[in-house]
Amino acid sequence: MQQKIIKNKWSRGDLTYLEKCPSCGQNIDYAPIYKRHDDENLMPDEWNIYNCIHCRSFFVNPRPSANSLPALYQDYLTHKPIKPESVFTGESLLWKLIRGFLSKRLGIKFDKKYLNIGYFLFMLVPAFRYKLDRFGRNLTLKNFNKKGRLLDLGCGAGDFLDIATQMGWDAYGCDFDPIVIKNCKDKGLNVRIGGLEAYSDLEKFDVITMNHVIEHVVDPQKIVKECYQALNNNGCLWIGTPNPNARGAKVFGAAWAGLHPPYHLCIPSQSELVQWLSDAGFCEIKILQRGVHAKFNWVESFKLFSTHKEVNFKFVRPKYIMADLINIFTPKNGEETVIIGFKK
Ligand SMILES: [Zn+2]
Repeated sequence: MQQKIIKNKWSRGDLTYLEKCPSCGQNIDYAPIYKRHDDENLMPDEWNIYNCIHCRSFFVNPRPSANSLPALYQDYLTHKPIKPESVFTGESLLWKLIRGFLSKRLGIKFDKKYLNIGYFLFMLVPAFRYKLDRFGRNLTLKNFNKKGRLLDLGCGAGDFLDIATQMGWDAYGCDFDPIVIKNCKDKGLNVRIGGLEAYSDLEKFDVITMNHVIEHVVDPQKIVKECYQALNNNGCLWIGTPNPNARGAKVFGAAWAGLHPPYHLCIPSQSELVQWLSDAGFCEIKILQRGVHAKFNWVESFKLFSTHKEVNFKFVRPKYIMADLINIFTPKNGEETVIIGFKK
């Protein structure tokens, strides 16, 4: 009988094999759903992606070992320079209206001209209001009128630290990647290398945000618990992450941009995320509406999909418009989950 060969290496380090779903903890007694290379074909490795039959989270198994993760990020996309957001530079009427909304709704200070009427216009259209609220990580003046200390955990290139500062927050960031931390320091941002422990000598935070970070970490539930400890009473945790139940995940299958193997170690379902926050002690947990937002992920997924099949995006457009129409009513099938919880 042929013996099953189990590899213990990937091209940049060791592999770790999981026996249980990293999201819900149930045994993995089912087969992977996809086999994929990384999106940019940077590495020769092929990864197994599982979709847990119990909780519907996605995860990579085997995954790069914790000590090989720095090698994974040596050429990551956060190292590339970011072009300034059009919201800060755009001259068109639409950008002036958007700046007007963001200024009054989130308190963002802009150097460029803006029109206050934008606030009233976008308040009337929830599908766009939700989209724009996310720009300031939903920290609206109405709900967060007292600004305090904010930590962006996994701050990457630091673009949100700039925005949070312009919103009036005392903003701090941290990241494990020495290259992005150096870039942030060069920009004058208040950052430290590492995770939450990098700030254990300072007082606690009023808000912790994690934007597309939780799916990259080895033990996400532990980090949620540590965030609870690092928050002041009435503090808020904000998490944004791909949604395994996205419409795009069904349409594009293995080519769905949210999968992003092997960087995305585990993409938790919305119900598991709620459970993680609840287990950590958070209350008033809410999955927030994202409104119109599907286009970016669908365009990226389509690029990945097209490397396998010749398809015209024209045929996809009506579907993502339909996906966004559904996103107006419920966050369940959105491309992204945004969740918040409070420490009371
Ligand atoms: Zn599971």
